[in-house]
Formats: sequence, structure tokens, C-alpha cells
Amino acid sequence: MSIDMTDNNVRVQPTDNGRGVFAARDLLAGEVVVVGRSAGPAAARGVHTIQVGFDAHVEIADPARLLNHCCDPNTGVRDNAFGAYDFIALRAIARSQEITFDYATTEYDAITMPPCMCGAGICRGEIRGFRWLPAQDKRRYGVFIAAYLRAAPPLASTTKGA
Ligand SMILES: [Zn+2]
Repeated sequence: MSIDMTDNNVRVQPTDNGRGVFAARDLLAGEVVVVGRSAGPAAARGVHTIQVGFDAHVEIADPARLLNHCCDPNTGVRDNAFGAYDFIALRAIARSQEITFDYATTEYDAITMPPCMCGAGICRGEIRGFRWLPAQDKRRYGVFIAAYLRAAPPLASTTKGA
């Protein structure tokens, strides 16, 4: 069993609507904050599954399972060797801040569209998927988007005839 060097980075705490993941120390931009590990293929999509391919959804182990969405998140995703994603600090994160990522950087399309309550100044208002993510947000995330989505052809080429 390998030691997960990120074990001391975060702790799980209650939030106003459930639980969330919070920084247990000051983190630097570029640090791997949480290593997300697949806990196996998902029988059905749900709030605690994560998409890893156009037809692939996995259950994700704690603490990554409890990461909440934000439209202006402090971490971004990078495919890892554990069947899911590493969550990388996009900027410096102070101890006790909540760790978030943008669900639209892993999910192609949302199964539900709950109103987003993230409170970010650039909040998009609802949690949809990558296919609905504005171009400027895709550019802002750069490489911190699921590899299967970055490799996808532009939507226009699959929906428009010649
Ligand atoms: Zn939002």
C-alpha cells in the first residue's frame, strides 16, 4: 500500500447542505490537493459518481467524493493512474477554505440541472456539463479538463450536417 502524500492536505467538514472538503493547511498553486481514486464502475450516475469517458462513470472514493462544485473553483482536474482525477490547486488556497472544482470539467452533460448556489461572481447559474460550458471557461481551464473532453471533436461537427 503506497502512502498518499495528500492525506494531510484536507479534512471533511459539514457545510450548510451536506459535507465538503476543506484545506487543512495553506496550499500553493500547482499542488496536488486531493488524489481522486476510482472505487469501481458506477451502476448508475448520481451525485457522487464522476465521468471518466463518454460512456464511463465511476464511483469515487472519499474525500474526492465529497468535493463540491463551484463555477470559479480553486482546483482543476488532471487524469491520474487511479481511474479518476487529481485535483490540482489553480491558485494559492488558504487553510480552512473549501476545496471545489467545476463539475463541467468532468461531466459531458448534466443529468439534472440544479440551480448553482456557489456564490462566485462568475457563477453560471446552473450546473450543466462540458457541452454547455462557454468557450471562455474552457480556455480558462486549459489543460485542467478531463482528457476525454479535451480530445473530443467540437460539438458543431457532431450536430451539424455538411
Ligand atoms: Zn455557480
